[in-house]
Amino acid sequence: MKDSNCIFCKIANGEIPSNTIYEDDNFRVILDNGPATKGHALILPKEHYADLFELSEEAASEVLIVAKKVSEKMKKTLNMDGLNVVQNNGETAGQTVKHFHVHLIPRYENDGQHILWNPTSPSAEELVQVRDTINS
Ligand code: 5GP
Ligand code: ZN
Repeated sequence: MKDSNCIFCKIANGEIPSNTIYEDDNFRVILDNGPATKGHALILPKEHYADLFELSEEAASEVLIVAKKVSEKMKKTLNMDGLNVVQNNGETAGQTVKHFHVHLIPRYENDGQHILWNPTSPSAEELVQVRDTINS
């Protein structure tokens, strides 16, 4: 299903031009127009899924293969030192476009970005409690 009000549906299906670096039957990978670093790309399924919770299992099983293919291409062509794979769900998590997408963010030494989180220090008991909540 496509959503006629969704900009990423239009980009993924070629109705709006984009800087495409990979395409197959089910996905298009484009350059982000507000990149964190040089080569920052977005993997877009051609079907509309708002987020990971809506994503079909078929698309889920394919998306990491696309990530691997494109990141290998980036590794060969960009002089990058690392790569972050980021996927945001919900406004609290930083999702601004409600069409599932995966960020591929090449990293360069001293690129000035801060994509990693601040670790906290829960007690062993707190971790057990969280484990039991998720497993309940
Ligand atoms: P989110 O915050 O939802 O995980 O990521 C949305 C990303 O899409 C942002 O990094 C933003 O720069 C990018 N973006 C938003 N609109 C467009 C667009 O029209 N074209 C492209 N190429 N990127 C977009
Ligand atoms: Zn969409």
